[in-house]
Amino acid sequence: MSIRKISAIFLFVFVITTLGNDADAAQKKKEVKQKPLPVSKYKGPKDQDIKLGKEYAVQVEKEMHVVPNEELTAYINRVGKRLVDSGLLDRDFPYTFKVVQEPSINAFALPGGPMFVHTGLIAAADSEAQMAGVLAHELSHVSLRHSMSTSSKSSTVAGLGSLAGAILGGLIGGDLGELAAQGAQVGTQAWATKYSRTAESEADLLGSYAMAKAGYNPLELGTFFGKLEKEMGGDPGKTAQWFSSHPNPGNRNVAIQEQAPFMAQGPFTAREGDLAHMRQIVASLPKSPVGGITAKAVPANSPAPEFKISQKDRQLDAGGFSLSAPDNWQAGSDSQGSQLLIVPDGGPIEGGGFGAGILIGTHQPKNAKTLQDAHQELLQSLIEQNQGQLQASGAPQAQKVGGQNGLISRMTSPSPYKGETENDFVVSVPYQNKLLYFIFIGPTSRWSQLGPVYSKVIQSVKFAAK
Ligand code: ZN
Repeated sequence: MSIRKISAIFLFVFVITTLGNDADAAQKKKEVKQKPLPVSKYKGPKDQDIKLGKEYAVQVEKEMHVVPNEELTAYINRVGKRLVDSGLLDRDFPYTFKVVQEPSINAFALPGGPMFVHTGLIAAADSEAQMAGVLAHELSHVSLRHSMSTSSKSSTVAGLGSLAGAILGGLIGGDLGELAAQGAQVGTQAWATKYSRTAESEADLLGSYAMAKAGYNPLELGTFFGKLEKEMGGDPGKTAQWFSSHPNPGNRNVAIQEQAPFMAQGPFTAREGDLAHMRQIVASLPKSPVGGITAKAVPANSPAPEFKISQKDRQLDAGGFSLSAPDNWQAGSDSQGSQLLIVPDGGPIEGGGFGAGILIGTHQPKNAKTLQDAHQELLQSLIEQNQGQLQASGAPQAQKVGGQNGLISRMTSPSPYKGETENDFVVSVPYQNKLLYFIFIGPTSRWSQLGPVYSKVIQSVKFAAK
């Protein structure tokens, strides 16, 4: 099955805050006072942050692909160290910096200091200062212990319990990312926290001070966030994750500008490396077979492997719905961030596509009025995307999904494994004016192994209460 986007209907609503016009500003002529630098309101022992962060870092490194490139890692460490050396951040925390291969524009820091920078951020920044701005903002959340503080909107420490699920939600961009973002109670990335707007303003303030002291133009922080907002209009899948954790506090540019006179003054000429060169490295990284997924890939036309299926399941939470899957299968988004994939080692095929695993996405019916019609429309669009290689085999059957009436169809296609036919069981169920679909994929010779796993997965689906 090739991995393509089936539909991309984005319903993002933008709140554009106006910056107030100059005439008003001139009239008011209010005197800007220096805001005191924020301090952490959370007073628990700091080892607690560190311990928690270390535990989750282990999990993150299992779930995401840490880029082993030394040059790139050294570079973000130099930038990070420069910011920490500004002396404005809490030096009790052992900050660490790693690059993870993820196309979305994001970086996140765990309590106590481990930070992960997405390759998408490095690719998107126009200058080192812009990237440093995101790092400074994140470091400030760590330093101010926002994710430990009960003042953050979601109770993070409790939320961190379902880390695996949270990672899943966090990885989904596009349609599902939006759906995940709607499931307000469910953290899209529990470790990253859904920060409060107050926490955002504090992280902007401390972060911009640290930038200026480190020799970066602090205004670049607001400039970059403005750029991300523009990006939301074009490709929301790339930035949805950032904004779902870091809500715009409004007027952030103005807030930073007003305080800039109180910060260290330029010249802002800090430079820890050649960003253009780093972007080249990012662009030349070997593509993981499917975006974000690092399950072991096998060459096309090799025999179907024996898939490893853990007896232990883990709960995966996509915001609007949850399911369980074997805990040694990898979950992530496809390269466009519009579908969710759950795959075993040996499922991905080198060079693209995969021969075994679960694909989850949404389909926006065009004309269909009934579930039957919408399901047929979905099958038709899958057939078209696979250039007629996919064939329906028999009529759809009723299939309950999370207590709702859905349909299941068996389809077949040529398998990328040697001498195999592929089963593609397509399940669809109405979901928020769309169809939510699951495609269970595997070679027929391994179906006795995979079939029972897939039955369990579909039975485990639960929809979040509205
Ligand atoms: Zn933030």
